[in-house]
Amino acid sequence: VSPVSGPEVSDALRVLHRVFGYDSFREGQQEIIDHVVAGGDALVLMPTGGGKSLCYQIPALVRDGVGVVVSPLIALMQDQVDALTALGVRAGFLNSTQDHDERRQVESAFLAGELDLLYLAPERLRVDSTLRLLDRGTISLFAIDEAHCVAQWGHDFRPDYLALSALHERWPDVPRIALTATATEATHAEIASRLNLEEARHFVSSFDRPNIQYRIAPKNEPKRQLLKLLRTEHPGDAGIVYCLSRSSVEKTAEFLVQNGISALPYHAGLDARTRAANQARFLREDGLVMVATIAFGMGIDKPDVRFVAHLDLPKSVEGYYQETGRAGRDGLPSVAWLAYGLQDVVQQRKMIDTSEGDETHRRRLGTHLDAMLALCEAVECRRVRLLAYFGQDSTACGNCDTCLTPPESWDGTIAAQKLLSTVLRLLRERRQKFGAGQIIDILLGRKTPKVTQFDHHSLTVFGIGTELGEAEWRGVVRQLLAQGLLTVEGDYGTLLLTEASAEVLSRQRQVLLRREPERAARTRSEPSA
Ligand code: ADP
Ligand code: ZN
Repeated sequence: VSPVSGPEVSDALRVLHRVFGYDSFREGQQEIIDHVVAGGDALVLMPTGGGKSLCYQIPALVRDGVGVVVSPLIALMQDQVDALTALGVRAGFLNSTQDHDERRQVESAFLAGELDLLYLAPERLRVDSTLRLLDRGTISLFAIDEAHCVAQWGHDFRPDYLALSALHERWPDVPRIALTATATEATHAEIASRLNLEEARHFVSSFDRPNIQYRIAPKNEPKRQLLKLLRTEHPGDAGIVYCLSRSSVEKTAEFLVQNGISALPYHAGLDARTRAANQARFLREDGLVMVATIAFGMGIDKPDVRFVAHLDLPKSVEGYYQETGRAGRDGLPSVAWLAYGLQDVVQQRKMIDTSEGDETHRRRLGTHLDAMLALCEAVECRRVRLLAYFGQDSTACGNCDTCLTPPESWDGTIAAQKLLSTVLRLLRERRQKFGAGQIIDILLGRKTPKVTQFDHHSLTVFGIGTELGEAEWRGVVRQLLAQGLLTVEGDYGTLLLTEASAEVLSRQRQVLLRREPERAARTRSEPSA
């Protein structure tokens, strides 16, 4: 398209130089900006740190009127607006943290045409007065940031986002650009349909983050393992440690501090002021470790986060990708490290079983968990798996744990049969269900009080599995769960068979298992605490 009149492409480059002080566009930015400047709708899928903001900020500056940015990151709006103001961009925001006067000021700046960018919390757009306000000004574009929040399939669903489809009906001529760093096919399609963006051009960047080294380790003593990682590989580095619960956040932060690491806690149970203070310190100071629940991180732009560690299993591959993506935004080598064990699977299944919502919702959560487990138990390159999940092809990366130390695989068919028949026998002969611990005790022929109490030593399968150790059996259970050959339910993590289990029991299916890298992990010397 060669625009005869109106804004020109060269304007975009000029704004990039003059306002933002950058030499050139990054991959993908120019095409997106040109398209939106010319009035087109866009759906942008770009990994964290890829440079999404400029994709709407520059068109907003080039086109006439005010660019309206919808963002769920209320806590960051002030910072974003301050950063833009420092660059000479006229920006403001409207959200629930403001009092009447502050809001009034922004509104009159908007109406007077004195703003380039207006940030809005999504719930503002459900309020009629906001819509009427927007009607009275000139809007250059709508940018919908963190667009995956509209997807119920995703992990960050915000009901307020559903109302955003109305933007198109009310302002059909204003271009819309939706942006996200989450991009499974399912989420992608859902964003497009819910936001009426079927006709929009889709811009999909590569999701590879080559500078991030992905590592998933068996969980033994997670806090000790973490400490070792920090001391041996990341002394003085900034990083984020994710834990599932508030209490484990507190305990882990305390443990790190006791061991001489500058760590801060962050979770939704802390009061707002502490949270803001800890976040500000993490951003401003060097070498702090933030121990947090997933409440922390969305929209955080700290370039030199050298590691992201997960002490608990993320609920989905999308979540894992987003959280690990906060490492290495500056492009320098960084580590994504996850410790994972059988207990994680039991715990997450239990959370799914007891979660609110209907059966469809629970099934969806189960699918997310299964994909995450498959990534953990992968025998091939983690990155290939990860990118494949987002529908992108790649070849073995040479920079993940499975590439660097390829796990051996072994024929676990017989082991699987032994384990599955133990589960089956308990069900058939005793009408009993048990968790992994009891099943393994039976396989190992251990006469524990609980084995004696239930007379499990008289089962024919008692003691048939002594060729493997306890840790190896736990590995077998985990991998059978990951392969869908076994499932777990309820408070006690009882093991149950699946339809596919029958294929193994009837010898129609071979089971390949990954050898536990346990021994390698144990022989490395522990740092003295
Ligand atoms: P995202 O929203 O995709 O996570 P941001 O828009 O926050 O990413 O950009 C990440 C970082 O990259 C920011 O610090 C931003 O200033 C920087 N950046 C973006 N585009 C460019 C560019 N063309 N040249 C140099 N730096 C850029
Ligand atoms: Zn690899």
